Amino acid sequence: MSEHHHHDDEHVREHDRPLSGPALRVKALESLLVEKGLVDPKTLDELIDTFETKVGSRNGARVVARAWVDPAYKQRLLADGRAAIAEFGFFGYGEDMVVIENTPKVRNLVVCTLCSCYPWSVLGLPPVWYKSAPYRARAVIDPRGVLEELGGEIPDDVEVRVWDSTAELRYLVLPERPAGTEGWSEEQLAEIVTRNAMIGVAQVTVPVGGRR
Ligand code: FE
Repeated sequence: MSEHHHHDDEHVREHDRPLSGPALRVKALESLLVEKGLVDPKTLDELIDTFETKVGSRNGARVVARAWVDPAYKQRLLADGRAAIAEFGFFGYGEDMVVIENTPKVRNLVVCTLCSCYPWSVLGLPPVWYKSAPYRARAVIDPRGVLEELGGEIPDDVEVRVWDSTAELRYLVLPERPAGTEGWSEEQLAEIVTRNAMIGVAQVTVPVGGRR
């Protein structure tokens, strides 16, 4: 577990940092649209929610799907997550990225025990529960319990590993490719990869109704 949580740095980064050029333009556009009555704030909230919960983690889903279909890419991803993710044009603020692979015998779980460090370049904004004290504590004290509560029983011979994120180092779980997806395209695979699977609290499953 890391001792190097630079909370002050992180808060500067996430909360007190001046808005960047693009963020300022989005803000300006947003207020103009609301002012002109072209969008109502509620619709805007829904849009933003979509970006936070769906679009954000679509980056990570594309990375996972590529790793599932392209063994050479997977190798690069596991060897140097930051560089392999940058191949898609997804960049962070310089924090390192480590991708950890789930296997039939190993399940990985990502947490930030002290605050809310999160692989935002691939997953967008962290869900509220990720930042909650109960998750942060239980993920360490009883990771198997957390996983079982959320996703059913974990067999005794499956090891659960917990990865504590820091300001300098973020983790992304490479979930197992589910059975029944043989022959799927990379795009189809990306569709079924969920944010929670890339945090490690869930596994990727084939939606009822099969191929999308
Ligand atoms: Fe943190």
